[in-house]
Amino acid sequence: KSQAHRVQKEESHTTLDDVAGIESAKQDVTEIVDFLKSPDKYRALGASMPKGILLVGPPGTGKTLLARAIAGEADVPFFSVSASQFIEMFVGVGASRVRDMFETARKEPSALIFIDELDAVGRARGAGVGGGHDEREQTLNQILSEMDGFEEHENVIVLAATNRPDVLDSALLRPGRFDRKVTLDRPHKDARKAILEVHVRKVPLAEDVSLEEIAARTIGFAGADLKNLVNEAALAAARRNLDRVDNNCFEAARDRIVLGEERDTELSE
Ligand code: ATP
Repeated sequence: KSQAHRVQKEESHTTLDDVAGIESAKQDVTEIVDFLKSPDKYRALGASMPKGILLVGPPGTGKTLLARAIAGEADVPFFSVSASQFIEMFVGVGASRVRDMFETARKEPSALIFIDELDAVGRARGAGVGGGHDEREQTLNQILSEMDGFEEHENVIVLAATNRPDVLDSALLRPGRFDRKVTLDRPHKDARKAILEVHVRKVPLAEDVSLEEIAARTIGFAGADLKNLVNEAALAAARRNLDRVDNNCFEAARDRIVLGEERDTELSE
């Protein structure tokens, strides 16, 4: 099979403990974890689960992480694909990749499918730039028809991530498709502290490090930025031949990230 047809299947070892600062989103997904673990319990009660759930939030807030954690907690295979790849493909390839992925997932007793950047194919059809893009439209139609084709006994749940829910084709949001929404917010101070705590688990910290203070000084940082901050600080400690990461290292890391971002925007202007 060609490269483009390869479906990525993984066994996730991520758990909900690895996800911090987005408590309400975690709360929202506990039922999905439980369903994937014991679908028969729900069936016996005549309850059906949503087939599709939309994860909505700014870049780096942990949408992919949360999806992986659901698969990890439920111990089901995780199939993932990024919708932005489809637009660069030849006509028909995106649709057949989608078909392959659903077909493989449906062979499992339970499975979770994750579609990142859903808006790349899921923009309202025939509207705005790229309207009428054949590949995009065919891929979108394939996703819709796969979801409509789910049968009662199949334990596949589809999660899709987007930071632009406003541009999505309304067909995607109809009942039986992505009819549930889980929102991930940019982390406020306490949330940033909780995220930092996850990422310093394996990092030896000097006594002058206060995560509380770092959280207070990282307004606007998303989870991905905080992960990056901890890593930059650890690298700074290594450069200085320290055996613990101290507050200076965090300061240097923060400056590097904030100034680096400024430099990036200068260049792109
Ligand atoms: P994008 O929209 O850019 O794809 P995303 O919302 O999917 O971003 P992730 O890819 O999940 O974000 O985040 C990247 C990494 O940042 C994660 O693997 C994790 O290490 C860290 N991270 C992000 N959010 C959190 C969080 N809430 N708790 C702990 N770590 C986080």
